[in-house]
Amino acid sequence: MRLVLLGPPGAGKGTQARVLGELWGIPQIASGDLLRAVVRENSELGREAASYMDRGQLVPDEFVLKLVAERLRKQDAKNGFILDGFPRNVTQAEALAAGLERAGLKLDKVVAVMLPDEEVVKRISGRRTCRNCAEMYHVIFEPPAKAGVCDKCGGELYQRDDDAEQTVRERIKVYEATTRPLLDHYARLGLLAQVDGMGRLEEVEKRILAAVDGVGRARP
Ligand code: ADP
Ligand code: ADP
Ligand code: ZN
Repeated sequence: MRLVLLGPPGAGKGTQARVLGELWGIPQIASGDLLRAVVRENSELGREAASYMDRGQLVPDEFVLKLVAERLRKQDAKNGFILDGFPRNVTQAEALAAGLERAGLKLDKVVAVMLPDEEVVKRISGRRTCRNCAEMYHVIFEPPAKAGVCDKCGGELYQRDDDAEQTVRERIKVYEATTRPLLDHYARLGLLAQVDGMGRLEEVEKRILAAVDGVGRARP
């Protein structure tokens, strides 16, 4: 399965990508996680990326494309992957398609998880992320067993700098202007399914599974 999850910030892409990745035995590849790992190294490139992320702006394509391409070349992505947060614009989508085509591959499906803005802000303001394994929690909707501690790895949970409300509003604007046009792009290619992101995690998971039913599974 080669799947892209689209949708506004906070729609639940990362949460669903992790669940489905485990179910199918393929990696969840989140461009945001790759970028945050670079930022943690505190290199000059990392500081430059952070300067965009802290403002809720997209990091330049060239940088993101290189990171994602490197990640996709790793062995664990050979049998499939779930991309989350990438592509974010048409340039990235075209680069992804070209890279896959060079390897004789293509995307199986693009699922857009839809969520109204007010819900986005609620979800993001309560989001907590594991510093160690990047698992997501929500202080009200998906709390960890012990406050501040990751259920999966015992890592420390923190609130991302860019999850502050003002930055979230900016990220929603960037999504509308730059990422939403990808829905039309993928609809034209016959790859798009839209699912409602409201409701419990398990309900949203069922909708995504229904949307990809019969797609790509038979292939290695
Ligand atoms: P969210 O969970 O809100 O969808 P992400 O973790 O995907 O957030 O992204 C956080 C930030 O990282 C974005 O606001 C942007 O600055 C940067 N980023 C992530 N993915 C991309 C991408 N594909 N292209 C450009 N910038 C990206
Ligand atoms: P994205 O990757 O699209 O930015 P996340 O998967 O990080 O979104 O989810 C954003 C926040 O919402 C997280 O705190 C997560 O725990 C929570 N969340 C995800 N799915 C649901 C859901 N179905 N109901 C309630 N909260 C959810
Ligand atoms: Zn963890």
